[in-house]
Amino acid sequence: MKIKTKVIHAGQEPDKTTGSVIPPVYLTSTYRQEAVSMHKGFEYSRTGNPTRKVLEDCLAELESGSLALAFASGMAAEHAVLSTFRPGDHIVACGDMYGGTYRLFEEVFKPMGFEFSYVGWEASEFTQSIKENTKLFWIESPTNPLIRLIDIRAVADAAAQKRIRVVVDNTFATPVFQQPLQLGADLVIHSTTKYIGGHSDLIGGALILNDREWYERIKFIQNAVGAVPGAFDSWLMLRGIKTLAVRMKQHEENALKIAAFLEEHPKVSEVSYPGLESSPWYELAGRQMSGFGGMVSFKLKGGDLDLANKFFKKLKVIALAESLGGVESLINYPAVMTHGSIPEEKRLAIGITGDLIRLSVGIEDHGDLIGDLSRALSSL
Ligand SMILES: *Cc1c(COP(=O)(O)O)cnc(C)c1O
Repeated sequence: MKIKTKVIHAGQEPDKTTGSVIPPVYLTSTYRQEAVSMHKGFEYSRTGNPTRKVLEDCLAELESGSLALAFASGMAAEHAVLSTFRPGDHIVACGDMYGGTYRLFEEVFKPMGFEFSYVGWEASEFTQSIKENTKLFWIESPTNPLIRLIDIRAVADAAAQKRIRVVVDNTFATPVFQQPLQLGADLVIHSTTKYIGGHSDLIGGALILNDREWYERIKFIQNAVGAVPGAFDSWLMLRGIKTLAVRMKQHEENALKIAAFLEEHPKVSEVSYPGLESSPWYELAGRQMSGFGGMVSFKLKGGDLDLANKFFKKLKVIALAESLGGVESLINYPAVMTHGSIPEEKRLAIGITGDLIRLSVGIEDHGDLIGDLSRALSSL
């Protein structure tokens, strides 16, 4: 089945008792048992819930994996994965990544004795950072907020030789445009808050993998800690997923036009979007992605916080807000907003400078979006 069909049908069959085409929302915390330990697969909704199960089956199929777990947030999913490692274990991650992930690593796991190294976007940098105790490579591609790409297959090949596991945060690309498990990754993670949910109306996370033993360990942690999504949020995610393929196509179509517009604009000094032929990641995108996605970042010429604020104030359609991946366009100032939790020195070293703007291109009319940007830029 192609992804366009999977997003509508994966994990879902008409309800056996009523024929309901859409999976019911099982708003229940517990399940009647026939006798002690005799139940129909569900005992208590922290451990498992039928609506959540449909979502997990759907996500597994979308990522071409066999097993999936849904969480209350992307961070909860990340926390559960990290919890399967031990103090003394070394993890290599790309430095250019979601600020909250960096905070989880540095402020929660590092004090427990975990070791972290941060590298750039070249596969060789991951290989060069390998130590005796290296257990995991953590990749985001495209990266957040600089929209660079990492060669997932090259990193996975290097990792496999040393029995190092590879996690790919696939939030930006979504399974519609990138299938990390097919490229050799061991586990895919999502903030389903973003494109998967797609409507900026929920917080959620998920992970997908094929290794049953690792899955069982993560599932044990999920149940022991309890950061699970409710049935209604699971249902909202399933509803959002129905249009994931058409939304991604529209996000990309708009992003391509906007990136091309920004690239030509005299008030813009730099644009990062893998779909631009001038992008250093254009060729790699063609190899490992089936689309370029809807995230664009750019730099305002001579930009700082004041200039950025002046620019944001003039925008009428595009909203200044945290988050991304919704149907509406959102713009963000990474240095203070999404990546404010990274110390300034580190932030600047990665390239998250004061002139950087990140744009999550929505599915509105592209002419209206370009008009909005054009008006605001010419006021600077
Ligand atoms: C938002 C985000 C997260 C965190 O997910 P939450 O759902 O906000 O907890 C992780 N990774 C990426 C790339 C994100 O954009």
